[in-house]
Amino acid sequence: MAGVKELFEDGSSPAGRIVRAIAAIGAATATQLVKSTGLARSTVSTLLTELKDHGVVLDVDTKSNGFGRPSQLLSLNPVAGRCAGVLLGLGEIRIAICDLAHTVLSDVWFAMSEDYSPNDAARCVRASLEEQCAKLGIHLSDLLGVGLAISAPVTYEGEILNGSILPTWCGTNIAEVFSAQFDCPIHVENESHCGALAEMTWGAAVGEPDFVLFKFDLGIGGAIVLDGTVQRGSHGYAAEFGHMSLNPHGPLCRCGNRGCLETFAGGHQLLRYAEQSFGEPVTIEQFVERARKGEPGYTRLVEDAADMAGWGMGLAFTILNPPLFIIAGKLAEVGESFTTGLEKSFARHSVAPPAHSPEKRKPRFVVGTFRGNDDTVMGAVALVLRQHGRIANAASAVV
Ligand SMILES: [Zn+2]
Repeated sequence: MAGVKELFEDGSSPAGRIVRAIAAIGAATATQLVKSTGLARSTVSTLLTELKDHGVVLDVDTKSNGFGRPSQLLSLNPVAGRCAGVLLGLGEIRIAICDLAHTVLSDVWFAMSEDYSPNDAARCVRASLEEQCAKLGIHLSDLLGVGLAISAPVTYEGEILNGSILPTWCGTNIAEVFSAQFDCPIHVENESHCGALAEMTWGAAVGEPDFVLFKFDLGIGGAIVLDGTVQRGSHGYAAEFGHMSLNPHGPLCRCGNRGCLETFAGGHQLLRYAEQSFGEPVTIEQFVERARKGEPGYTRLVEDAADMAGWGMGLAFTILNPPLFIIAGKLAEVGESFTTGLEKSFARHSVAPPAHSPEKRKPRFVVGTFRGNDDTVMGAVALVLRQHGRIANAASAVV
């Protein structure tokens, strides 16, 4: 039987499909694997015995559903491979390494100059990963992949499109730049899409095949997940909710259009309004803290933002009819004054549920699990675990 690396890279064989399914879930029961791979129960059972005999899969724990015999939970052998997730941020890079049983082995960040180049990023990430791998007693070649979270839409080939917080990177094929430094596959995705993958793997969307995520941060991003897959659209622009134009005569947006949702409810805009009104610059963290405490002015800005955000979510609901909305990003931390206002506005701007069963037809609203940038960096790890956004470089291409 092939090793974990080969099975992981060739997800077409039944054993490969099981390995990929366990990697995505973390610790899974045989029943979950039958459901997620579509393979017959007897095939799953035979292959699991084989995979256990070869040390690829381990029994880890049991899971009880409250009645009957508890089910055995299986995970991949954690020493069989590691995945790295990288957040390429403004003036900083954060890197996490995770094993195949989903244990975080290392999580570091370091400052970069604000105008660092893609080549600088690839070199620094390689040097840092070499150091982290050495501390863990493993080699860089043990990595099954490196996931990159980018603050802009990216194409399937890894080209960064417009809208990045690193504007000079527009047009760069980041997968090619990183492939020059690494032999393993490079996975690339937009950071909000990474956020959705983190919520699906460890957070508020575990077991949820269909949902829409809105991320309210300095900018506004989002993700559409259908049948367990983050939708990217034809070029990677899917779910750029921050740039839905809500008023053609509204304020000019950084994308060049007018009246985008981001110009009303984006953190950058709210900080600008706060500074104009109160005469001092504030960080997004200070803004959230003051709004949480109910300071006048800050509360009003949040209520106004929630009103517009609910309108945007109402439009998304009209188009996609998801059963669940995940509200993520720093603004979600303000709490009820944001989420309640948003749901009220949503109700005004979406198709009303029928009077005979209103509760059954309403979507659920859940605040995301992750705080800070954890969703982004862990989502970058999940890119590798879930084989999403994978761009095989010449050295790692499966022939
Ligand atoms: Zn815009």
